[in-house]
Amino acid sequence: MQKFVYLFNEGNSSMKELLGGKGANLAEMTKIGLPVPDGFTISTEACTAYYEEGKTIPSEVKAQLLEALSNLEDKTGKKLGDPKNPLLVSVRSGSVFSMPGMMDTVLNLGMNDETVKGMAELTNNARFAYDSYRRFIQMFCNVVLDIDGFYFEQYLEEIREDKGYSTDPEMTAEDWQELIVGYKKIVRKHIKQDFPQDPKEQLLLAIDAVFNSWNNQRAIIYRRLNKIPDHLGTAVNIQSMVFGNTGNDSGTGVAFTRNPSTGEAKLYGEYLINAQGEDVVAGIRTPQPIHTLKNEMPEVYQQFVETSNLLEQHYQDMQDIEFTVEHGKLFILQTRTGKRTAQAAIRIAVEMVKEGILDKKAALMRVDPDQLNQLLHRRIDDSYQRKQIAKGLPASPGAATGMVVFDADEAEDLGNEGKNVILVRAETTPDDIHGIIAAQAIVTSRGGMTSHAAVVARGMGKACICGCEALKIDVKAKQFRVGDTVVNHHDIITIDGATGEIMLGEIPMIEPELSAEFQLLLTWADEERKLGVRANADNPEDAHKAVEFGAEGIGLCRTEHMFMDSKRIPTVQEMILAETYEERKAALDKLLPMQQSDFEGILEAMEGHPVTIRLLDPPLHEFMPDKEELLVEVTKLQILDPNSAQLKEKEQLLRKVRQLDEFNPMLGHRGCRLGMIHPEIYIMQAKAIFYAASTLSEKGIKSKLEIMIPLVGHVNELKAMRKLVVEAGLEVKEETGCDFDYMVGTMIEIPRAAITADQIAEEAEFFSFGTNDLTQTTFGYSRDDAEGKFLQAYIENKVLPDNPFAVLDRDGVGKLIETGVTLGRKTKPELKTGICGEHGGEKSSIQFCYETGLDYVSCSPYRVPVARLAAAQATIQHEQNNKRQAGVTV
Ligand code: ADP
Ligand code: MG
Ligand code: MG
Repeated sequence: MQKFVYLFNEGNSSMKELLGGKGANLAEMTKIGLPVPDGFTISTEACTAYYEEGKTIPSEVKAQLLEALSNLEDKTGKKLGDPKNPLLVSVRSGSVFSMPGMMDTVLNLGMNDETVKGMAELTNNARFAYDSYRRFIQMFCNVVLDIDGFYFEQYLEEIREDKGYSTDPEMTAEDWQELIVGYKKIVRKHIKQDFPQDPKEQLLLAIDAVFNSWNNQRAIIYRRLNKIPDHLGTAVNIQSMVFGNTGNDSGTGVAFTRNPSTGEAKLYGEYLINAQGEDVVAGIRTPQPIHTLKNEMPEVYQQFVETSNLLEQHYQDMQDIEFTVEHGKLFILQTRTGKRTAQAAIRIAVEMVKEGILDKKAALMRVDPDQLNQLLHRRIDDSYQRKQIAKGLPASPGAATGMVVFDADEAEDLGNEGKNVILVRAETTPDDIHGIIAAQAIVTSRGGMTSHAAVVARGMGKACICGCEALKIDVKAKQFRVGDTVVNHHDIITIDGATGEIMLGEIPMIEPELSAEFQLLLTWADEERKLGVRANADNPEDAHKAVEFGAEGIGLCRTEHMFMDSKRIPTVQEMILAETYEERKAALDKLLPMQQSDFEGILEAMEGHPVTIRLLDPPLHEFMPDKEELLVEVTKLQILDPNSAQLKEKEQLLRKVRQLDEFNPMLGHRGCRLGMIHPEIYIMQAKAIFYAASTLSEKGIKSKLEIMIPLVGHVNELKAMRKLVVEAGLEVKEETGCDFDYMVGTMIEIPRAAITADQIAEEAEFFSFGTNDLTQTTFGYSRDDAEGKFLQAYIENKVLPDNPFAVLDRDGVGKLIETGVTLGRKTKPELKTGICGEHGGEKSSIQFCYETGLDYVSCSPYRVPVARLAAAQATIQHEQNNKRQAGVTV
């Protein structure tokens, strides 16, 4: 016979799946001897059985329930429905994960017209008894019978007004009795039946309602949002009541064992005298801060302090505790791990090590890497009173103040002048990249959390708000409107990318910093982790930030951003437009010193740490003017000024742009295919890198170069490109007399490269898995199109578990990475391997990289601390799994 019902003294905290979080903790607290009112838990398996039987409580469950009930009656010496000495219970839902969408708790179940009299006599407090009864009717009707609470509240209001009272405490026992008569009429009117008087019937109805609430709309949406499986089911806790509303020696409250926003090791919470359950959160009366309980009930306070210390020691974590005091006696009604800010999480973890509650490994596991984002961005001073004008999607955290600009070119110009700008657009495209780089923050009126603007901004650690539909942008008039507010070009606004709020004017900010505790935690992480952590950085500022946050090198330095600079783009275009080799060479000669100085800056910032520099990757059309705009200009000139030299020039430009135009640029002429057809571009870049290294070497600064060839699919491509680089190296060496330390490797981002990695490794000293493009090429998705059009639906319908561009797809892309690493190392055991791309800063992808034996991950500088922590967690997790497999308890 399957066991469905567990008395509190039959369970413990490891039984969360079966008893739900609340039930397992009630059992655990009972086990360690805390004053928990007696009760029992109906398991989540009973919930599953309930649905299997077509939404009826199976007879087996019912039988066990009645047995547990009679056990509870024996223990308490009370009986459900006994008019002389009635047992009253609460019915509380509780699943494995705490779920706000579930049924609210019903208190005082077991009350009816008879037991209320018994209660009045027993407590010698008729007012209390009738107040409890009316609360029960109200709650039961609302939660179980589905009658809107509004009807009861409205009626209560009427009675109060009739009597000339302004608050509930003025109501007498007789007043409550009168109210109950009215309440019953409301019930009859709505369900065409009387309020159920039989306590057993009440109990079964309540249990039924809890099971049903597992599948209410709120719960389903919450589960979908938080990726909680639908099959888990909820448990039901039946617990004998204790009363905080029996007078001034009673009360109820909630407390955290430490401050959940700062982490300070000091009890934090509030309570209400003479109140029941939810009164504290309901906000009807203002609760008192917990420390004043010391004066009001010194003994209870002392006992509570001891209990909360005990619970913290026992669970080895900060607890969130519910308690009730009945006639001076303390009862604990719930404990759970307390939710906390990132700042508090770090402080608590570190201090618990110092207090000897946790060891370092356990402390490292306590902080969620995802949460750290909050701390790694500038943010608005908490003491500031915000007044938002609009709210969009919080696409990338951080706060920024700047002038409103509607155009990427202008953003860049102003940015180069050192001005702070916020780029506001309907949406952004890769053409706006230079504006995004120059801006402090991005705001769009269209697009979601995975739109171009959002993805790029997150990658750069830049604040971004997307899909703010309230903004009516008028690019011509250079302004946007929100309702009646008009914001003009160059007006100052402030945005908070963590909340999606847009505000007028400048607002005081706090700079991100790694607190002493945070740094300490990260040094512990460094001691544990085996995986290297590098950053993606394209300029010296990012490189400095990366070093500050603890990066051990640069895993990806993209060179195209250097080409996008407004002062260089004419030379870049000259190079592209060149008709002859000489013309192209001349343009490249102009670009070489510019590139050299870029590389000097970065290499100097990295002080001898390895730097992976990727040669030019995007298709050349990205550096050219927009085809459609050009077409409009040409057409205009043909009409207005058909013989002008300007028209000729534009027509030629248009011809070239058309030539470069591709149907599917993602799969087109880009990556090493550029170097294959225009080797002089890669030669120029390689030389610029070597010249930079030799200049620095003269200054006594070391550099460790890793030159990376993108988008290789066939070993012959790499062979050819490698030859170019080696020859350029020899040439510069001869010219400068300087010897440099460098490697040549490739990005693995085409499936063919991964499955022929044994061949590719013949020509490579390192592999860097470009997981963004590898995901695109493996799935055959173009990221922008996928995220804009169908990916969201795929995730919602559970076709895919996650967005594969955010969380690495282990089964597909991951298998290619594994294959690549294994085959590559077969040819070259010392082959260095890593990943670059957004996945390098995401915890589950980092875990995968560790398990696959990569040497390092590389991510945006702002995510380096996240990656350091996640890499440590991957190691610890792995150790624990091994121990578990070996049968050791951890
Ligand atoms: P929630 O998950 O919304 O906190 P709970 O089941 O914890 O719901 O209960 C709501 C309120 O009722 C809490 O304040 C809790 O302490 C109180 N409560 C629950 N069961 C009892 C009981 N047996 N006696 C007294 N108060 C109770
Ligand atoms: Mg609770
Ligand atoms: Mg790529």
